[in-house]
Amino acid sequence: MLGKRPRTPSSSPSDGPSKRQRSDSLDSWDGFSNQRLRVYVVQAKLDEKEIADIYRLVESHATGNSDLHLQLSSSPETADIIITAVHMLKRLERHVPWDVAKQKSIVTPEWLRQSIKLKRPAPCGGFAAIRQLHNDTVEHCPEQDESSEPSQTAHPMASAESVVVFKPTSEKVKNNWRSRYACARAHPLICPNQALAIALNVLGRSRELEGLSVNALAYERAVAVTYPSVITRDNFRQDISKLPGVGSKVRSKIEEFIKNGTIEETETTLESERYRSLSLFNTVYGIGPSAARHLYELGLRSVGDLERYYDVPQGVNASQLDEIESQTFTPNGRPVPLKSFTEGNAKIPPISVKVALALREDLNTPIPRAELEEIHRVIMSELEQVQAGCSSTVVGGHRRGKLESNDMDIVITHSDMHQGTGSIKGMAAKLVERLYKRGELIHAKAYLSGFHSHNPLRTEHWDSLEKALTVFRLPASSTASQSQSSEAGSQTRRLYRRLDLIFAPPEAYWTAVVGWSGSRLFERDLRLWAKVEKGMKFDSSGLTRRHDSKLFVPENEEDVFKILGLEWVDPTLRNANV
Ligand code: ATP
Ligand code: MG
Ligand code: MN
Repeated sequence: MLGKRPRTPSSSPSDGPSKRQRSDSLDSWDGFSNQRLRVYVVQAKLDEKEIADIYRLVESHATGNSDLHLQLSSSPETADIIITAVHMLKRLERHVPWDVAKQKSIVTPEWLRQSIKLKRPAPCGGFAAIRQLHNDTVEHCPEQDESSEPSQTAHPMASAESVVVFKPTSEKVKNNWRSRYACARAHPLICPNQALAIALNVLGRSRELEGLSVNALAYERAVAVTYPSVITRDNFRQDISKLPGVGSKVRSKIEEFIKNGTIEETETTLESERYRSLSLFNTVYGIGPSAARHLYELGLRSVGDLERYYDVPQGVNASQLDEIESQTFTPNGRPVPLKSFTEGNAKIPPISVKVALALREDLNTPIPRAELEEIHRVIMSELEQVQAGCSSTVVGGHRRGKLESNDMDIVITHSDMHQGTGSIKGMAAKLVERLYKRGELIHAKAYLSGFHSHNPLRTEHWDSLEKALTVFRLPASSTASQSQSSEAGSQTRRLYRRLDLIFAPPEAYWTAVVGWSGSRLFERDLRLWAKVEKGMKFDSSGLTRRHDSKLFVPENEEDVFKILGLEWVDPTLRNANV
């Protein structure tokens, strides 16, 4: 299916001279500019409003600046893509003949919304409407499907200003779904078994919230299975049930899903008050699973309960923060020590649960890619004033191609900043202080090099890099788009965002980039692989050989993989978690 472009064998004469020809030229990563994609909507099972919405969305993308050019098609035969809410093959056949259906990508309306967000056709595999036609849907997808080769020039997920050229990921990695290590497999953002992964993830989350970390990890591993096609009864028996890491418990859940399309425990978990409250509490920055359980045991259930408990004034919002920056308390009633970021004259308060609660709406609003890139620009231009000539990489979910992130992660280095010179610490503090004085950064918690916050309940691994975990808000008018929107009279309030700044000395830059790109299970297995298979220790702060502590200094990101004896995996294929 690599690089396969959809052909429309039955192009009608009315297509005339504008008959679509996809450009395969390498100087454009999408090859879609000015190419119209014909969309046929199966109206069955959609109500009037939904149909109108879909038509409106398609029509609003008939022209414009976006790379997504859509056109309504009056018949399935002349369409490139078919949108339907029908999931039963038999029912679809009433509207689309079988031989036509086999030649098209048949997707749910969600595909359209995703494509609009992406501003180009989304990969179809994760949106296949008919299970039995999944492979045909992937094969005829107008976008390169999720298993396809990344472009040799610009990365599909790279934004205009951060165009990065990645080496292609080998077929070996793409076919390596049997490997027990997530860092040796390819995990696209959306996989052919996405709905199953989401269902299993709920079970993993509930175990994580209950503090059953071993069981949680078993589900996390199951979620990360990267079987290349839809899991069915047959291939399950043949392949999946023999995968390392898929135990009997998880196996029975997968079998249940194959049979019923759902997992009963997932449904009951999602409905249970306990799961709902614990996961709600856990969305508040600073409330981990054990604190969430404690609060639940005290009888708390809702956000309102949390606000009363933490003494957050009713209806307080981000603009009234001063009122709530007083002392905060742990769930056990003990005062939380204020470990603030202090440098020079500024004493910047760390984010407390109370503040996180007041900022909850802002902090829980997903951050679109464009905003992350804008924050990156602002931070780097401020940093330039503090220390000219820094390099940086936006890491975390953004780097893996996520359309929306929960926070922003940036790894920063400077060629003169070597470990132990103290200058990194100085640079980090100066930047944070500068932003604080400008009022854009309101909270910062420093994790200084050598300072390990070892919390046995945390599953994450803490490296020894200089970090500032902050809350940041873009200045009111930093872009053209902002002024455009004010001209249109729709000035939007800037939201507070979680911003993690990681400062690495140049010798640790590439391990930091790999270590902070994620996803969580990819990182966990990278450390496991290094230890078990290579006798090495990997973390974001460096790569050492265990027996003699020899330090390896990678020259680039690929080098990190090479030193570890791993095949290269493109960042967009490191999405081992959902
Ligand atoms: P999102 O931010 O959208 O939830 P994400 O993958 O960026 O997704 P983060 O929690 O921001 O999630 O973490 C980014 C990556 O950085 C993680 O995958 C993890 O590997 C790494 N990471 C996070 N916290 C730490 C830490 N304290 N020490 C070392 N590495 C960390
Ligand atoms: Mg992140
Ligand atoms: Mn982060």
